Amino acid sequence: MEIEMDKCHYCDKYTSEKQKYYEHTMYEILNTSLIPGANYTYREKKISIPRCSSCYSKHSNKSIYVDLSIFLLSMIGMYIFFEHMIGFTFILLIPSILVSMVSTYILSSAFDLFFTDKYFKVKAETDIEEYIEIRTLLNLGWKMNKKSSLNITEKDISKTSPYRGK
Ligand SMILES: [Zn+2]
Repeated sequence: MEIEMDKCHYCDKYTSEKQKYYEHTMYEILNTSLIPGANYTYREKKISIPRCSSCYSKHSNKSIYVDLSIFLLSMIGMYIFFEHMIGFTFILLIPSILVSMVSTYILSSAFDLFFTDKYFKVKAETDIEEYIEIRTLLNLGWKMNKKSSLNITEKDISKTSPYRGK
């Protein structure tokens, strides 16, 4: 039997456990609308980033210990805040959850930037811009994330778009 091996993007060890790979979706903006803020056309591509099982478990630990803790603390904080302002009602769980999702995203990214490497001994899960396939797409003008049509200009159209400069 032949087993194809890849190099783990996070630690350079060889691995073939595809189910542990990290998946990221890239976006290529093909064309913008003439009306600012209206729709644009895009293409997306899923990139599978090789990750060994050891890096996979470190990333899972970070999610459990850091992201989940931030989320729960933020939830409790927001709930207490809303209850203090408005009084008890289950409806308040909705804004509490929404605010907590946003604050978890921001604080978790900040943690990745400064502490994940130090405390979990692994490059952050989202530290993937140097991965060759992603670097290649970025050079062609692809985006790391889907953008709101409000923030799109002609300059965001990818270098390989057939609509470019038309
Ligand atoms: Zn690894």
